[in-house]
This record gives sequence, C-alpha cells and structure tokens, in this order.
Amino acid sequence: MRTTHWIGGKPWNGVAERTGDIYDPATGQVAGQVDFATAEVVDEAVAAAGEAFTRWRTASLAQRTNVMFSFRERLHARRSDLAQIITAEHGKVLSDAAGEIQRGLESVEFACGIPQMLKGGFSENASTQVDVYSIRQPLGVVGVITPFNFPAMVPLWFVPNAIACGNTVVLKPSEKDPSSANFLAELFAEAGLPDGVLNVVHGDKEAVDRILEHPSVKAVSFVGSTPIARHVYRTGTHHGKRVQALGGAKNHMVVLPDADLDLAADAAVSAGFGSAGERCMAISAVVAVDPVGDELVAKISERMAALRVGDGRRPGCEMGPLVTGAHRDRVLSYLDAGRSAGAQLVVDGRGHPIDGEQAGFWLGPTLFDHVDTDMSIYTDEIFGPVLSVLRVPSYDAAVELVNANPYGNGTAIFTNDGGAARRYQNQVEVGMVGVNVPIPVPVSYYSFGGWKDSLFGDAHAYGPEGVNFFVRSKVVTSRWLDPSHGGVNLGFPQNS
Ligand code: NAD
Repeated sequence: MRTTHWIGGKPWNGVAERTGDIYDPATGQVAGQVDFATAEVVDEAVAAAGEAFTRWRTASLAQRTNVMFSFRERLHARRSDLAQIITAEHGKVLSDAAGEIQRGLESVEFACGIPQMLKGGFSENASTQVDVYSIRQPLGVVGVITPFNFPAMVPLWFVPNAIACGNTVVLKPSEKDPSSANFLAELFAEAGLPDGVLNVVHGDKEAVDRILEHPSVKAVSFVGSTPIARHVYRTGTHHGKRVQALGGAKNHMVVLPDADLDLAADAAVSAGFGSAGERCMAISAVVAVDPVGDELVAKISERMAALRVGDGRRPGCEMGPLVTGAHRDRVLSYLDAGRSAGAQLVVDGRGHPIDGEQAGFWLGPTLFDHVDTDMSIYTDEIFGPVLSVLRVPSYDAAVELVNANPYGNGTAIFTNDGGAARRYQNQVEVGMVGVNVPIPVPVSYYSFGGWKDSLFGDAHAYGPEGVNFFVRSKVVTSRWLDPSHGGVNLGFPQNS
C-alpha cells in the first residue's frame, strides 16, 4: 500500500524521490510506503492552498459551518474505519483509537459553532457620530505539523478551527502513521470542502523546514517532541510567522497520605500504560508522599500483572506495542540505564506475556521505584510503558520536585483534602492540572497547552485560544458624515 500527498483536492500523481516504510507494529512487518515531500512538493501544496484562500476567505460563515456539520456526521459514521487505520499503523488498541477519535470529534463540534467565536465588538458613538468596531479575519495559508501518537486527534485539534476561521491548510502528519490524515482529507472533500482548502503533505524534516521557511505560510501549529518544537518555534518565528509549538512532557502524579490508594493505583496504571505510555499526557512519574510509598507500589504492581498486552485488534487487549522497533529499543535501553543508576526495577516489562506475534514491537509495563531526579529515567521523556516512583517526605517537597522539572504539560494530585488540592493548583507550574483525575486533557471549549519546555509560543491549542491563533483582528473607526459637518482639523483625533 502506498500513501501519498493530497493536494488541491486529489492524490498527488508524481513519483517520489524518497519514501519511508510504514509498519504494522503488532506484527513488526512493513505494511506499506509513504511518499516523502521535497521542498517543491510542499511549494505545490502551499500554492494550492494560496489559490483556494482567495475564495475560501469570503465563504460565508453559513457555508463554512455547513461543511463542518457535514464533516462531523461523516467522521462519526466512519469512526470504526478510522480506528482500524490508527490501530494498524500506531498499534494502540481499538478502544483507545476510538477514544482519540471521540476527542477529535469534540474539536470538530466546537468548530461547528465558530460564528459565535468570530463575533467582533461594536461601540456606537465612541466619539460623536463615530462608531468603532472590531472584525476577526483569517491569516491565509497555515501549516499544521503533527506527531505520531495521536494521528487523528491532534490534526483535529487544529484543522477544523483553522478552516472554520477561513484559513487554508497544509497538514504534515507524522511519517510513522500517515494514513489517518488522508482519510480525514477525503472525508472533508466528501463534506463539500472546496479543493485546496485542506492539503496533506507527507515526509520528514525536509518538508517541515520548507513549511517553516515558505513566505506564503502565515502561521504554524506544531505538536511533537521538545527539541523539534524548539526548532520549529525558532525557525518559524525567524521567518516572521506566528507559531505555537507544543512539546514533550514528564507528567507527575502526586499522591498525598490521605488519598484513596486504590483509586490512585488504578489511575497510575491507567495513565501510565494506556497507549503504551505514548501519550503526551501520560503519567510517567508518581510522587509518593511519605508514608504511602510501599503500599502504593504494591497496589500498582498487582494491577500491572493483570494487564493484557497484545495486538490491539484482538478483543480484550488493553495495551498494544510501541510504534516502531527503533522506538521500542530506545525505551528498552532505559531499563538497564535505570538499574545501573540505582533505581529498583520492581516490574520488568520484558517478562510480560504477549497476546500477539513474536516479531511485534513489544514491551510490557515496567515499574521503577526509588527513582532520583538525576537519573536519566527521570530526566528524559521515555515515551513508553515505564513508570517511575519517586518518594518525598512532604507536600512541599512534592511541589518543589514537580516545579523543578523543565517540562510543565500535565500533572495530577490525588488527595481527599480540598485545601491541599486547591493549594496545589495554585502553586504548581504546569499548564493542565487534574484533581483526582490523572489525564486532565481539557474539553474542546477550553484550550490545551503546557508551560515551560512543553510549549513554545503563547497560544494554547484548540478552544478559544486556538481560534485566537488562527485569526487577526482589525478595528474600524467609521463616521458617516452628517451633512452639517465639515472643516479641516490637523490635531490628533480626540474623542468628543
Ligand atoms: P517528533 O518531534 O519526532 O515529530 C513530530 C513532527 O515533527 C512529525 O511530523 C515529524 O515528521 C517532524 N519532525 C521530526 N523530526 C524533525 C526534524 N528534525 N525537523 C523537523 N521536523 C521534524 O515527535 P513524535 O515522536 O512524532 O511524537 C511524540 C512526541 O510528541 C513526544 O515528545 C510527545 O510528548 C509529544 N507530544 C506532545 C503533545 C502536546 O500536546 N504537548 C501532544 C502529543 C505528542
């Protein structure tokens, strides 16, 4: 199977100079190839988007929302087909793929209500017979560059809002699981989106760098790892673009002594090993406040033993493989690194039974205890099914530890003490906070984004901040002259 670019409302018909393999992570086999775009192919897509923008920017709000409602219906009807595509290329279990589509649908539904978000303000008679009003207009062609771990949801964080605001889009999804993006583009076309409003180019750094440098691309939304997010932010802004670049994470779950430890252990296992830990909001560090450490580690280990790991298409499997063999090997290397650094390997995922083909990219759930903040298993984003437990003597020490970490994407506190939870939400330097909720991904009518090294730029994704990112405002000061009015006045305009 070959996956190619989608430009101007149809599949690209050129011959790619470079291609990449697409794997089925549960079998370890190559399942297809994806074309990699050269700078010239990106230019073709930007030209198609630029041409489409001249018309789409004037499409009425009613026309835009009609497309969005129709797309929502089609995506909802075809969600099982999309889940199959996600699982085949990413490896996450089908129920998890369905979950990401559901969260993506929420973003589409938010975009269906875009007229409410695009209203400006109006001040009648700001000065005598002078009215002032603001309007919100699209930027033009925008680039959207997305990671492998949510091949449908993350594009849906940006594309519906960008389009509903009147922009046209060049989407560059991850080359590891590229087919979901084409599926979405085809559904948009069926929903009546004019050709060229949404284009998809596949590839790697070459395609990304051309998007970042192209003079006709006005803004870039990026989600991926922190080093690449930093590169995207620096390069894009250097070329005069508006950029929001969401990066990696190390998400802490603080467990206070008064917490319900069964609830906390359930949450740590669900949020640590769901999607094999390949979520930017996964819990990767549990901070156990004395004296809960021993009991909590026992409860977490017990639950890990019961997890069913295997091919995401097999009924009952709860955790799938890692996305590629190279990524699995990188994650595996942390098991030795953690042990040599002196952490206690409580559960070694290499021994976990697998319900799938031997050659898949497997690693079972793994737990380290007595982890210190200078160990690489703590300082690095592992992005796999490896959970670390750190022990601290007090609430204050827990907050200090979390705030000292350079990442600030998500965090959670488990406690029955409302006052402590309230203090935590106030003091913690993290963009998204859960109180007895381990994965606090905001609903689509709030906005998603971390602090510190988890986000470069000042606009969070989707919701109201996402809309702000995709429009620029204009303020009009107007006077319809009264026939009696006239005369030259060189003074600076003052209100009267
Ligand atoms: P990645 O940074 O490797 O890739 C992201 C995108 O950048 C892909 O489209 C990729 O093709 C492109 N890219 C890769 N290397 C590049 C380079 N050298 N120059 C230019 N572009 C390049 O990330 P990934 O492995 O696909 O995804 C996992 C990462 O994404 C994790 O760090 C995870 O925390 C992060 N993530 C963050 C969020 C968030 O909202 N903060 C959400 C999802 C994933």
